[in-house]
Amino acid sequence: MLTCKKSYRDIPFAHRQHHHDGHCALIHGHNWGITLTFACKETDLNGFVVDFGKLKYLKKWIDSNLDHACLFNEDDPEKDRLLELAGHLFKPYFLPSCSSEGLAQHLHSVFDPMVREQTDDRVWICAVEIEEDSKNSACYTVG
Ligand SMILES: [Zn+2]
Repeated sequence: MLTCKKSYRDIPFAHRQHHHDGHCALIHGHNWGITLTFACKETDLNGFVVDFGKLKYLKKWIDSNLDHACLFNEDDPEKDRLLELAGHLFKPYFLPSCSSEGLAQHLHSVFDPMVREQTDDRVWICAVEIEEDSKNSACYTVG
């Protein structure tokens, strides 16, 4: 298996961990980093796992959904009120868990099918690493 990595850095967005018994229950932001590890058994004709110049669809998805967004857990008890305020105050994005670990797993479920489709199933994503800031990170791996 061959792998390569692509990182997206300093993506500002907020989240709230409503189950947390401390300050993480409050909406707060980080400058996040996302590192995707791509894997394949056979490279393309250029000898690449993926052509980094042809990953604009991933950056576009990040810009549309995460950049300057506010992430919440799908079971956030304030979901209805948050949706009332959404649009003019913030850009909401709901996912099963907006922890770093949850985001890593969620982004794998979003990006892996996109990458497989773009590469005719030659390439898959074997790891998603999420950096909340320069000190804290989480990783979801498959395989
Ligand atoms: Zn946080």
